[in-house]
Amino acid sequence: MNKLLLGTVAASVHLLFATGALAASAPKPATQNRAEIPARYKWDFSPIYANWAEWDAAMTSIESKMDAFAARKGTLKNGPAAVLSAYLAFDEIGMLQYKVYRYPQLQRDVETRNQEVAGKFQRVGAVFAKFGTATAWFTPELLKIPQATMEQWIRDTPALAPYKFTILDNYRQQAHVLDEQGEKLLSYAARFSQTPTATFQELSTSDIKFPKVTLSDGKEITLSPGTYQGVLQTNYVQADRAKAFEAFLGTYAATSNTYAAIYNGVMQKGWFTAQARNFPTVLDAALDDHAVPIDVVKTLVDTVRAGTAPLQRYAKLRKKLLGLDSYHLYDGSIPIYKTTATYPYDDAKETVLQSMAPLGADYVAKYKKFLAGKQIDVYENDGKRSGAYVGGVYGVGPYMLLNHNDTQSALFTLAHEGGHAMHTILSYEKQPYVTSSYTIFVAEVASTTNERFLLNKLLESTKDPKERFLLLQHAVDSIVGTFYTQVLFADFELQAHKLVEQGKPVTAAVLNGIYLDLLKTYYGDAVTIDDAYKYTWSRIPHFFNSPYYVYQYATCFASSAKLFKDMTTGAPASRAAATARYLELLGSGGNDHPMAQLQKAGVDLSKRETVQAVVDQMQELVTQMEIEAAKIR
Ligand SMILES: [Zn+2]
Repeated sequence: MNKLLLGTVAASVHLLFATGALAASAPKPATQNRAEIPARYKWDFSPIYANWAEWDAAMTSIESKMDAFAARKGTLKNGPAAVLSAYLAFDEIGMLQYKVYRYPQLQRDVETRNQEVAGKFQRVGAVFAKFGTATAWFTPELLKIPQATMEQWIRDTPALAPYKFTILDNYRQQAHVLDEQGEKLLSYAARFSQTPTATFQELSTSDIKFPKVTLSDGKEITLSPGTYQGVLQTNYVQADRAKAFEAFLGTYAATSNTYAAIYNGVMQKGWFTAQARNFPTVLDAALDDHAVPIDVVKTLVDTVRAGTAPLQRYAKLRKKLLGLDSYHLYDGSIPIYKTTATYPYDDAKETVLQSMAPLGADYVAKYKKFLAGKQIDVYENDGKRSGAYVGGVYGVGPYMLLNHNDTQSALFTLAHEGGHAMHTILSYEKQPYVTSSYTIFVAEVASTTNERFLLNKLLESTKDPKERFLLLQHAVDSIVGTFYTQVLFADFELQAHKLVEQGKPVTAAVLNGIYLDLLKTYYGDAVTIDDAYKYTWSRIPHFFNSPYYVYQYATCFASSAKLFKDMTTGAPASRAAATARYLELLGSGGNDHPMAQLQKAGVDLSKRETVQAVVDQMQELVTQMEIEAAKIR
């Protein structure tokens, strides 16, 4: 049985701008107490369940449906009616899974210290894991039916049509599915194979002892990842940033051998699964799920390695404008200019909505309806998780989490998450349940496209050089964060996995060496690379939680660059056609492999030019920044 995708929990972390926090109309509430925040800025969970009693009843019901599903074992050979009936039952369980999962998960995320909710959420995880083992028979049994027979059954049974892609995709992956005994063994292994990731979680969050430093103003602070970023983004004293960096990275350096052992465990797990399922490398295994050719990653990495010139040019521009004698990686987040502009939520909603006008009245109307609803949790409160994401519930729609703090960055986050929400809305509207979930491979296309529309709109509406500079800087910082940095990460993953696949030792020294070389390759002589940055790999959660995941940020970014260009340049008819293709993509959920979906929309990620276009865009943006900077005095 295919894995259940629990919607796209696409977290996005944006750099925060330092602002003068001027009072504006309807600014963010001063309170951190959730109870004091007006209800219209908080999630309403009642569209999912009215109360916990309803959720409890649903949990009981889902468990009995899961048990009943197990009893279907041995029936698939009976014919198309049995296959259809199994898929329908599976849909029913899947739709319920979304609801029973989201109800506690969303509540936990806004009140993480609530142990009762956390406990209920854990109960969901345990029930789902049991279902995984109880359905291990399904795919091997399905694949015992010859593919030609199955195709005939699908042709003869119109009700099976929505399942065609999913069913046939199982045959595509047949070479990698084991017999029932083998699948069962792998499902047992799935439980302990989470250990390296869980160990990373504990070491990097529960057991970590963050250092204290005293900064030049005499204040002592504890450097958690959040406060560390805060120093890098707001402290204009370079020596303070340097001190914070040394102390913060030092924490990871002190346990780097343990991190290396854990990372080795993560990669060995991947290599175990890849070999068990007959894949030549971990990368092949990771990309096969969605039929992405491995050349996509290799082309991406090669093209970006050869295209680091604008990244280095940007670093040199920053060094000059910040007036620094030497430029370090810890100087990369401090704003070049301070701004007093604020973007209160109600105004930000209006701005974002207006910027989406090129996508047409229907898109705008649906977006407006969502923004007016009660499925957006807007403001920060004590105990609420940080960042922003959209999580869907089929039949109910998307839930959006924000931590809107009135900054320009928060404005872009709203546009970004709005892209995810609309993708969810259109996919749910146009697709049956079985193909309603989009993959991460296309998810970040929807979000970054909306950011591009917003940037375009804002640039059109201001002539002020400083404001224009800050907007351009936002765009460039997005390219650095979403494109260059993620490709550097992917490059690291490729090199580290190669060690495992070749049976070579994986030690902290080896991993440090790979990371340091990559930094030097990317930044050349434009940045002084301090030695302790070699430990950075040990603090990247994606490496431990989901190997070979981050490259998709970069491919999505390149895709949206191409789509945006097609929708906004050229003759009106070709722009209109490009927009129609894009909306079609948003409504296509997961009804095809993501590469094929993107190709239909006009993007070919196997081509070097698609990736090179982002490098070229970076080059242009840095040039524009230089022009605007020259006007500022
Ligand atoms: Zn996102």
